[in-house]
Parts: sequence; C-alpha cells; structure tokens
Amino acid sequence: MSSVYPKIGFVPTMGFLHEGHLSLVRAARRECDRVVVSVFVNPVQFEANEDLGLYPRDEARDLELLRAEGVDEVWFPTVEDVYPEGLDNFERIHPPTYLTDVFCGIDRPNHFSGVATVVKRLFEKVQPTDAYFGQKDYQQTRIVDWLIQAYSPLIRLHVCPTVREPDGLAMSSRNTYLSSEERTLALQLRKALIGLEESFLSGQRSVEDLEQEFKVSLSSPDLELLYAEIRSAKDLKWLNEIQNKVVAAVAVRIGKTRLIDNVLL
Ligand code: AMP
Repeated sequence: MSSVYPKIGFVPTMGFLHEGHLSLVRAARRECDRVVVSVFVNPVQFEANEDLGLYPRDEARDLELLRAEGVDEVWFPTVEDVYPEGLDNFERIHPPTYLTDVFCGIDRPNHFSGVATVVKRLFEKVQPTDAYFGQKDYQQTRIVDWLIQAYSPLIRLHVCPTVREPDGLAMSSRNTYLSSEERTLALQLRKALIGLEESFLSGQRSVEDLEQEFKVSLSSPDLELLYAEIRSAKDLKWLNEIQNKVVAAVAVRIGKTRLIDNVLL
C-alpha cells in the first residue's frame, strides 16, 4: 500500500549540471511525488587554496535543464540563506574521523565537515523523505549516510551509479578545466580501476598487492597521485584482505584539476 504522505526527493548540487546530476534527478522523478533540486556552491567545503572563485556556474542553463526534467522546485540559495549567522560564526558539523581522515580528507581537511554542515542545513529546509547522491563522490555518500543516521534517520539515502563519458571518464563539472592533453591523461583513472577490477575478478584478494598494482598503473610524470586505496565500503576502514564489499578509490591532480573516481568490488 502506498503511503498517504508524499515522497519528496531531494538532489543537492553545486550546479553546472551534466548527465551525472540529471541521472539523480531522473531517479528521484521516478521514485518520488515531488522533486527538489538545490544549486549552491558551498563556500565552506572548499579549502582556502581551492577553486571556489573559479568554480563553473551557469544558473540559466541549469534551470532550463531542470525544467526539462520536470523538477518541481529548484532552489538557488544565497550564502546568507544557508549561513545567516555569517561565515565567521557558523557551527561546523564534524563527522567521525574514520570517515573524514582518509581518501579526500587527507588533502582536503575541512571538506567533509563543510559537506556535512551544508547538507544538514539543506535537509532542514527541504525536509525530504528521500535524498539522491552519486557514487562518484563515494566518501561523500558515507558522510551523508552518517549524517542521516545522526540527525534525520527517516530520510532514505539513494546512491546512484557514476555516469561516464563514452570513453569512460567520470562526468564532473571540473572536467571543463581540462585541456585536451589533460583530458586524455584523465582516462588513466578509469583504466586503473578496470585493471583492478580484473585482478579482483581473477581471484586476487590481498589489499596490499592490489593497492601496489593500482598505484603502479597510475604512475606517470604528468599525473600527481593523491591516493589510490582500497577500504571497506561500509565505513572506509583499512583491511588486509577483501572479504566483504570494498571501495577502490583514486584521486589525482592533472595540471590544476583535481579528479576522483572509484569502483566497488
Ligand atoms: P556536485 O554538483 O559535484 O556537488 O554533485 C552533486 C551530486 O551529483 C553529488 O551527489 C554527486 O555525487 C553527483 N554526481 C556528480 N557527478 C556525477 C556522475 N558523474 N555520476 C553520478 N553522479 C554524479
């Protein structure tokens, strides 16, 4: 029997939308009565030396794409809407360190507290029953899972598959920063993940050996490897051997662009 309460599906984004974002919108559209999308470049999840000022924006195009998808409400909050107390005064939410002090949290130490803080505030305003996030930002989905359990356990979290370009590159708003040579180099991420998947499927279970192979497949003078690691998919904890579901995740810097990707094994 269906519920008498409407299902409100929420897709938080930072805009400059692509098919990856729209896949979340379509999943929400299929499964919910109302769909709300927010477009907000959250300043508190950027480190001081990052691309906040350069982050690509095109609100008119975003609105057009979302209208075409039949979204019921598009919200473009201002910084004051989300942080009325000001950016010097707001209280940060701190997820547990086992989720934040790994993977992207190493070179982005304030990123996930910024994500948790904004998502909590957006949830409070939108009051969704269902929230849609992409697997591409896998660590973010674990942070949101923790946030929901801690603050709003009735929200259902949906993690949607990573949408890729035809050649395998994970779609990202930051791909627009890449020159054509950098764009070609970026394909290494997907190749390395496919190689890892093949080794896993052929029976390799030692995390140390798989990580070694993972790192070697990403070694290139033009690519700064930030991490290439395998951890428990549930809580991102370190392990010796693969027995349950794991996530293999990678981050690199190519020129000025930071790119991430992952696969679940
Ligand atoms: P962003 O605008 O980058 O903050 O992303 C907003 C949401 O879209 C997040 O839940 C992302 O994980 C998701 N997303 C971004 N890129 C992709 C992609 N290529 N495939 C699926 N979801 C994505």
